[in-house]
Amino acid sequence: SDGRVINFGAGPSALPTDVLEEANKGLLNFQGTGIGIAEISHRSKEFTAFLNEAESHIRTLLEVPSTHKILFTQGGGSGQFSAVVLNLLARHRLLHPQLKDEERVMDYVVTGSWSKKAMQEAGRLGGGRVNIAADARRYSNDGKAFNSVPPHDDYAFSADPALIYYCENETVDGVQFSDDLSSPASFPFEKLTQGALLPLVADYSSSFLSRPIPRLADHAVVFAGAQKNLGPAGLTILIVRQDCIVDVDAAAKLGATPVPITLSYKTLADHSSLYNTPSVLPIYIAGLVLRKMSDGGGLQVYAQSNRQKFEKIVAALKNGEEKDVFKAKVKDGSVSWMNIVFDVPGEGRQQKFLDGADKRGMKGLAGHRSVGGVRVSLYNAITQQDTDKLVGYMNEFVADTV
Ligand code: PMP
Repeated sequence: SDGRVINFGAGPSALPTDVLEEANKGLLNFQGTGIGIAEISHRSKEFTAFLNEAESHIRTLLEVPSTHKILFTQGGGSGQFSAVVLNLLARHRLLHPQLKDEERVMDYVVTGSWSKKAMQEAGRLGGGRVNIAADARRYSNDGKAFNSVPPHDDYAFSADPALIYYCENETVDGVQFSDDLSSPASFPFEKLTQGALLPLVADYSSSFLSRPIPRLADHAVVFAGAQKNLGPAGLTILIVRQDCIVDVDAAAKLGATPVPITLSYKTLADHSSLYNTPSVLPIYIAGLVLRKMSDGGGLQVYAQSNRQKFEKIVAALKNGEEKDVFKAKVKDGSVSWMNIVFDVPGEGRQQKFLDGADKRGMKGLAGHRSVGGVRVSLYNAITQQDTDKLVGYMNEFVADTV
């Protein structure tokens, strides 16, 4: 009726229609102020109250412990590839001022193209040495594809690293750590030094608020761009343990790389995320989504629904695999709940699949340009009904092809 289709895109991605309708009103008149949300001062009492509410929804939904601050910033996931390195190298400098740069090790777990990019940025910035703690490519047939989470035996973490980095959900490759810590595809928390304040960093950009975060309290930094499950691009959320909010200027005096003021976690924390103008409109829409999540029963409701959506698509994919129409790209156990990737082998068949979906009002299903194939993104705003429609089409395509 309103011309909207089902958007299975990987990000920016679908947002709940009722939230967009409400945001539409706020764009003209935010909470009865007579001023639209894109026009109102970020220091008005109405906006700061809204920001505080959004923060408290995140704290409650994810059970963020009091040891951690929730911060809002800009610059996306990619901005944090740089910020985590600079802030945590500064922390390491303050803890161990005597070490040489090459003695400051940054452990990267590489399970896909986003963790690889983050690792490359660490190498670019210098001030420390990158160590690949595990590399998923070793377990693929061609040595190039990212198609599974490495086995726990494989991880080799350094002693006292400046940071330990992983990407919880690889959006392009469709590889995700299991949230079941007894699974071989989980993150190997048991291999970390127990009881220490570890500089463990996780990129949750494409799985934030899709389900609880295992061992959240043990993380130094969890970060996420908003543009998948939460809201528009332009907002980045950080959950930072207090010992990682350090005086970067004091570290710079000891030889650490100076940290641009807006990238410093201390700047953000000292000013309650309002050092400079925040992304007011994205925060507003994300805040409405958070309110809806809290009103709708909390994170477990979403986690359960996301599991169901995932299981439905995986079943349709298996059906297609049995009949040689589809080919899953990721090994069982490591398949992402949020981004399911597969090929449709055979001359012209993949395009036929995508065209047929498009004709039925389902878009955004082409895989990332770097890897091709099909990618089904099942973020929070995708409903069971949307999922059922895609499953119906997948089954129909298989039946018509064999
Ligand atoms: N990490 C992950 C897991 C992502 O999916 C993305 C973007 N899709 C990024 C980082 C980069 O985020 P941004 O485009 O916000 O810089």
